[in-house]
Amino acid sequence: MNIGILALQGAVQDHKNKFSELGTNTIEVRRSGDLLNLDGLILPGGESSTMLKLLNKNELWSELHSFIKTKPSWGICAGLILIAKSVHSPQQKSLGVLDVDVERNAYGRQLDSFITNDLVFNNNGKQSTTEGVFIRAPKINRIGADVKTTVTHDNQPVMVESNLTLGSSFHPERSEGHIYHKYFLEKIRHINE
Ligand code: GLN
Repeated sequence: MNIGILALQGAVQDHKNKFSELGTNTIEVRRSGDLLNLDGLILPGGESSTMLKLLNKNELWSELHSFIKTKPSWGICAGLILIAKSVHSPQQKSLGVLDVDVERNAYGRQLDSFITNDLVFNNNGKQSTTEGVFIRAPKINRIGADVKTTVTHDNQPVMVESNLTLGSSFHPERSEGHIYHKYFLEKIRHINE
């Protein structure tokens, strides 16, 4: 299995480490040709407005859009902002593939970033509590009819998914363990069955 990691900017290395610990190959994606032969794609955290500029500069927009419409993808924090249907505070262009509305920096500024041990993860009916690292995270303010909530914090959605796409406002690559990276790989296997 080959997992691409959008590597224009942001938290690329921590995802590479997680997948390598799971024995999964990763490919850094900077140009449209890098999207060939991928089974799934990570859009990592970072700064979504900067990523938008680099997507245009690298002429990646339309191929990336086609990829995430047809193949499994996981947007994390800034990556979630990039794939959301609509983006507020401030408004910003997005790829619009995951039917959610997000509000940028809704938990506050850098100093308000926090770690909680109270995430509730519903893994296909099996519930567990996990750590969540929130760094200038967006809030998910609306969820479309075909989107379900997989993880909550204070009863608010912080990880959601559609048939093909996963989006989380927290950073699982910053926590110990592989629970969410495994979940993404299992989702890909399930899609390919
Ligand atoms: N606040 C950033 C943005 O709006 C996202 C932060 C992150 O990815 N950790 O793009």
